[in-house]
Amino acid sequence: MRFSVVTIFPDIVHAYIGASIMKRAIAKGLLTVNVHDLRHYTSDRHRTVDDYPYGGGAGMVMKPEPFFSITRELWPDKGSRKIILMSPKGRKFNQDIAMELSGETRELVFFCGRYEAIDERVHTCLADDELSIGDYVLTGGELPSLVIIDAVTRLIPGALGDSRSAEYDSFSCGLLDFPHYTRPENFEGMAVPGVLLSGNHADIDRWRRKESLRITMLKRPDLFEGRKLSSDDENIIKEIKEDSE
Ligand code: SAM
Repeated sequence: MRFSVVTIFPDIVHAYIGASIMKRAIAKGLLTVNVHDLRHYTSDRHRTVDDYPYGGGAGMVMKPEPFFSITRELWPDKGSRKIILMSPKGRKFNQDIAMELSGETRELVFFCGRYEAIDERVHTCLADDELSIGDYVLTGGELPSLVIIDAVTRLIPGALGDSRSAEYDSFSCGLLDFPHYTRPENFEGMAVPGVLLSGNHADIDRWRRKESLRITMLKRPDLFEGRKLSSDDENIIKEIKEDSE
């Protein structure tokens, strides 16, 4: 997959993609992440990327020219790129959108805002999509774009050490993840559930499914809305309810 990040703080992006899973996936050639300094696409001596807002008010607004200039120079062909503008006003990012993006053949280009806003003409004329990572406001679009790139990278075959990790991650199958344990078997009186030591894989799978269902019922019952449960899951849920009576 091909990602590009357009930012006035390239170091923030380089720091994250230069470590751990991202670094390995890039080294394996599974993805490329090009980081572009928006200031290189300004035309004045001071490399100005912002200006005062028309109409007055607080903060500065990112100028449209550098965004149009980089787009015309690097991504003139609309069909081969998808420009995603990071914005709290965008559609809210989730695992389904991560799945959708992981199937993209176009280059995914992330525009990172700073200051009060990006000039509206960038939103209306250049952006193919606007994504928010949640209902809160951050200082810039670098963390949101990295959040999205990271979540999409986990779904690229071969990016994780064990491809099954992503399969069972929370939300991937519509439920929250089950609990995980490692050694020691007994830590300060807290023992690992016996079934995980049994070696019986059918029992382990059932226990994990039951725990996923239990935790989802407890913490995120909204995830069940509009969801058709299998008869196995329905039986397990009946059992969970009986357990708690
Ligand atoms: N005034 C803007 C608003 O209320 O919608 C917020 C501007 S914010 C300080 C600066 C930049 O950070 C935004 O242009 C956007 O690129 C990024 N940003 C902040 N919060 C975000 C979020 N929740 N999701 C995605 N991007 C965000």
